[in-house]
Amino acid sequence: MSAAPANFYDHTRAELLALASRWGFPPVHAARLWSYVYLEGIEDWAAMSDLPARFRAKAEGELAFGRHATAAETPSSDGFTRKYLLELTDGRRIETVLMRYTGRVTACISSQAGCAMGCVFCATGQMGFVRHLTPGEIVAQAMHVDAVLRTTAAPDEAPAPALADSTHASPHARHERLRNIVLMGMGEPLHNYDAVMKAIDILRDPTGLALGAKKITLSTVGVVPGILRLAAEQRPFHLAVSLHGATQEERAALVPVAKKWPLDELMDACRTYIAKQQRRIFYEWTLIEGKNDTPESAHAVGRLLQGQLAQVNLIPLNPTAGYDGAPTGRDAAKKFQAILADYGLPSTIRQRRGIDIAAGCGQLAVAKK
Ligand code: SF4
Repeated sequence: MSAAPANFYDHTRAELLALASRWGFPPVHAARLWSYVYLEGIEDWAAMSDLPARFRAKAEGELAFGRHATAAETPSSDGFTRKYLLELTDGRRIETVLMRYTGRVTACISSQAGCAMGCVFCATGQMGFVRHLTPGEIVAQAMHVDAVLRTTAAPDEAPAPALADSTHASPHARHERLRNIVLMGMGEPLHNYDAVMKAIDILRDPTGLALGAKKITLSTVGVVPGILRLAAEQRPFHLAVSLHGATQEERAALVPVAKKWPLDELMDACRTYIAKQQRRIFYEWTLIEGKNDTPESAHAVGRLLQGQLAQVNLIPLNPTAGYDGAPTGRDAAKKFQAILADYGLPSTIRQRRGIDIAAGCGQLAVAKK
């Protein structure tokens, strides 16, 4: 029995060129295949007319475009967010979200099916860990969103319902390309370090999708060995660290991994990262009414982060079925922000996106299969 075709998206460009050589073809054919896929969005072998038929036949037998089938697609009521329930080849399901902010489109990408970290307010954590994603399964999510963007009109150019008709859009109607990704979907990226880094390398390849390092944000709940490895490897993209509590006790109640990597160890790792990278860290703070949104909490964050090259992103809690906390109101969030400013800490109150379709931070989950 012949082996199943490998996933095209698992390969870096260099690996693809080496593969073509092993098959007895000049690397230039593999380079053209790469550009068909990443520059033109073509995955139809018959449409790759620049490539010799023999190469196409060989590649078609050896490689499959592991794009995920869309099991469900949900637009938010404001038309700015779309959540895709995507099916992996083994039938597992993950979620990918397309978010439109003013002047910017971002794909929120999953790194695992489920998550082992168990943050109490997070729907993915509530569903538990299923498995790591492969590099190709991570890349394919970005390509999915890129395909949506290149074949559909933005909501301000066309009314939201037109987006739902994406399958009928002209493949030549080039509207936008994907430029920003955040690894903040399902899973903890630093728990699947090697696959995530390979996927990012593929997405950053300057001859392909060419995502800029500054357009990539990786979010961690505080996996200390991963932060130190990022620092040592001088990975140049943005790092967001979920803090949520400014004392060990407060944090451990919300983020169980704090028991494994306590707050003081996490802060040491973050200071190392900042020193080595000369790059600010974005600290994520989910604002939960009456729990971690008090002036005392804000002062504690201020004392903890004062003097660091840091920015705090305040995210009013997004509701999930398994956690009964409530989001902080606008006024309390503003007061929290003002206290942080007194410590010289810049902060933002995150624009909420996709709450009505459960596509906000911490809301991604799929029924266990
Ligand atoms: S918040 Fe992130 S790390 Fe925590 S359980 Fe959810 S997906 Fe995992």
